[in-house]
Amino acid sequence: MESEAPIHVLMVSFPGQGHVNPLLRLAKFLAAKGFFVTFSTADTVGKLMRTANDISHKQVIPVGDGFLKFDFFDDGGGVTNTDGSRRTLSDFSAQVEHFGRQYVCQVIKDHAETHRPISCIINNPFVPWVSDVAADHGIPSAVLWVQSAASFTAYYSYFNKLVSFPSDADPYLDVQLASVVLKYNEVPDFLHPFSPYQVLGTVILEQFRNLSKPFCVLVDSFEELESDYINYLSKLVNIKPIGPLFKSPTATDTSKIRGDFLKSDDCIEWLNSRAEASVVYISFGSIVCPPQEQVTEIAHGLLDSQVSFLWVLKPPAKHHGLPPYVLPEGFLEETKEKGKVVQWSPQEKVLGHGSVACFVTHCGWNSSMEGVALGVPMLTFPAWGDQVTNAKFLVDVYGVAIKLGYGHAEKKLVSRDEVKKRLLEATVGPKAEELKQNAFKWKKAAEAAVAPNGSSARNLDAFLKDIKEGGAVRVNEI
Ligand code: UDP
Repeated sequence: MESEAPIHVLMVSFPGQGHVNPLLRLAKFLAAKGFFVTFSTADTVGKLMRTANDISHKQVIPVGDGFLKFDFFDDGGGVTNTDGSRRTLSDFSAQVEHFGRQYVCQVIKDHAETHRPISCIINNPFVPWVSDVAADHGIPSAVLWVQSAASFTAYYSYFNKLVSFPSDADPYLDVQLASVVLKYNEVPDFLHPFSPYQVLGTVILEQFRNLSKPFCVLVDSFEELESDYINYLSKLVNIKPIGPLFKSPTATDTSKIRGDFLKSDDCIEWLNSRAEASVVYISFGSIVCPPQEQVTEIAHGLLDSQVSFLWVLKPPAKHHGLPPYVLPEGFLEETKEKGKVVQWSPQEKVLGHGSVACFVTHCGWNSSMEGVALGVPMLTFPAWGDQVTNAKFLVDVYGVAIKLGYGHAEKKLVSRDEVKKRLLEATVGPKAEELKQNAFKWKKAAEAAVAPNGSSARNLDAFLKDIKEGGAVRVNEI
């Protein structure tokens, strides 16, 4: 670092695992490159992060040429009201905004007169007010979009009414999005009239209302994977694909700094004992809780197919008010030689392990990107939001997955026979081979994108330059 006082970047994350992970990966990259990064999110998840990982509130950690500081803000109880009842999604989001705005204003004020004023603010989706606060204070800001560029295109097109989307009057309408036609059930479902979570669509669309405020939109994807969407968006927004962030060159050195909300169970030792490419890894991410009947069908599918498996099966979060999952009688005993059920895994390590044959995924964008970049064939089991769109791309565009499940809005159960059939199809035979070859191709492309002079590496360098040279303000004019 040339100057004595490192440039100070404030990062504000929505309190969700799928939001914290990519933003923290970017935070570690910036710190390693010599920045002082304050990483903040709501304390409800801050508490979980401190319990599960070796980090503490206001701790400043030297990282490469710079520093990373964790700083958590009070969010008035997170998803829980004072009487213990659950807040609605819109109340929760309003609560985070209420406390978060105060926090960001205070941090800006506290640092304004010091040797370490905030030079740039970066947020992820669901907290669009961060861009407003930054603009009000004349501080350049950027957004790290944590979904695909294709999903960004869908939200952008919807918000700006560039194409027609399904509506109450025409719910089964197809949507042409650049080179791909999305069926009604492949459109990010927060935008669909059948979705029970349309409120999340409203929160996401808020970021499109103030899209002129951030000087740039970073995407945790890479150009080669989504060239049609990135080319299209580049004419409209200053968009920079910089992913896969978990593969960035500084990731290995900083891998011990983690933001998991749950402590990982030990999976690696068990995977070490398994044969090469023999294990089916199953995970529905941090939020999705499949219905009990679906869990039962999956369990029987595993028994019937006799595959080896590592299954992340979290009990439903307390605020869902659902009972813990019950596995079929004798399931654990019967599968003890072949399988392992855990509550949380070190997913990147699991997917990178040679014993993993395929990944049954809910298709969250982080999981999708991790699977793609680690060259793992997948079986898609989306629930909602962009997951249904990611599933479509994994199967039909990237060619790395087999379709298995349906979005929750479709209320369809996948039978044990179907689970068995698809698991076998993805692990042995010609389809498995085809998926493997495509997955390998994308793994190589992802590695090239983050290697020195690769497409994502160049975009990251340009972004660093923008922050350092104040170019951030200039590009606002795009
Ligand atoms: N993850 C993990 N261990 C698990 C399950 C998930 O570390 O057992 C991580 C996963 O690697 C990813 C994130 O949690 O980075 C989940 O994000 P994603 O966008 O896939 O789904 P979400 O949880 O937001 O639905």
